[in-house]
Amino acid sequence: MFAEDSFADVVAEAARYGIEVIPFFAGPAHTSMLPRVLPRVSAKDETGQPTGYGYCLTGDEAVAGLKAVITAFLDQHVAPTNIRRVGVQGDEFFPIRNLDPLDRDRVVSPYCRCPTCRELSPADLLLRYFALWRDLLRARGLGVVHWQDSLVREHALDRLAQELADATPGEVTISWWGYNDPLPEPTPNRRWRTWVTPSTGLISTLLPQDLTLNIAQWIDTAARVGADGILAYTTLPASSGRNVAALADAAWGGDRHERTAFARRWARQVSRAHAVLIERAEDIAGSVLGSYPLMNYLLQQTLPYFAVASGPRTEYVADLMRTLSTPFPALESVIRQTHDTLQAALRSLPADRRGPYGAPDAMELWIAHVRRMVAHLDLVREAVGLARAASSGTEIPSAVTAEWTSRSEALLDAIVAENPAWAAPAITREHLELRDALPGVLDAIRSGRITGVSASAPWHAWLF
Ligand SMILES: [Zn+2]
Repeated sequence: MFAEDSFADVVAEAARYGIEVIPFFAGPAHTSMLPRVLPRVSAKDETGQPTGYGYCLTGDEAVAGLKAVITAFLDQHVAPTNIRRVGVQGDEFFPIRNLDPLDRDRVVSPYCRCPTCRELSPADLLLRYFALWRDLLRARGLGVVHWQDSLVREHALDRLAQELADATPGEVTISWWGYNDPLPEPTPNRRWRTWVTPSTGLISTLLPQDLTLNIAQWIDTAARVGADGILAYTTLPASSGRNVAALADAAWGGDRHERTAFARRWARQVSRAHAVLIERAEDIAGSVLGSYPLMNYLLQQTLPYFAVASGPRTEYVADLMRTLSTPFPALESVIRQTHDTLQAALRSLPADRRGPYGAPDAMELWIAHVRRMVAHLDLVREAVGLARAASSGTEIPSAVTAEWTSRSEALLDAIVAENPAWAAPAITREHLELRDALPGVLDAIRSGRITGVSASAPWHAWLF
């Protein structure tokens, strides 16, 4: 969009539908491209070397460089449009591991360590970054939207309120987000607009989730604290259509935004004759897909995105096999039951279905993505069985590994066929690493180079 300079066209097209486009510009964390392309704006380490992550916010050359980039962005892409505000998120401003693919142990920090920045706190740096943007936007009559999390973490909200003493009301918006309970409590302030950010989907490469409870909670919160806006964002996986519909239902439904009533309306949209079956199937699947601890702290960990996100050092596949083959608690049973529950939900769906709300693919893509999850969990569970066998020194017949690999290939083929071209490579990458690594991991387990994979299957301790 930016390379082809077509951003203004997108904004104009959206305006025809009454949609306001808010371009988001990452930083001062979540930014690794700009600091690498333009090392002079990058945060520096103790020796003055650019780190390639985050910005230096006090050096003359760095600040001038950053201002030049922002000005160019505003001149080229924003000025030809009727955009009213720019998102300068400032979220997750903290050091992070697993960012450098060549050195996953390395902790990469967005906090610049040049002689002047290192004297400043993270709150100082964050507020400086926001002020730099605000000056450039204010000169053009544009507002700004920040996420709340770094401001809250660094106890910087009061300082921001002081800095905004002379600002035009509504110039700054703070939008509150949170995927899991308890949701953060927004603290409205007359210095800024308060919005809330329900989640309509996490990352399109991951397993599908039912976020309708999060959406309902955020909408209740918005009403309670008097928020004047609701902004959801997602890298839209089409299987999140039901989440998006839940949000739209709440936006348009006034006092009819009750969650169970939405589920009923959605089910009737999918199948008028068998709405009860649809609702039941969504309920069964929702017992898995709607559980944040189950999805995010266990099931998503079976994909490399989450599995490498925690430190100090994780070896995806080997660690996954080690963890899931632990006899107690029997995590493999969690995988098995999840797989069986989702399969039961799929089996209970009636055959006569249609696209809800005229979105022809919304239900079928959801089904495809749940099938992907079922196939993935099945492969993981079977891999655990192979790892256990390997750990007891059993020779695994090559035909067995070949069969596992060919089913993995079938899953990858299905992902390519069922997903939009822009999303397929990223989603396949998640599953590809398991397929690529498992045969080698099994060899290493069998030869004793990888240990800690239990040979014993879990058993149930009967209470007599
Ligand atoms: Zn610096």
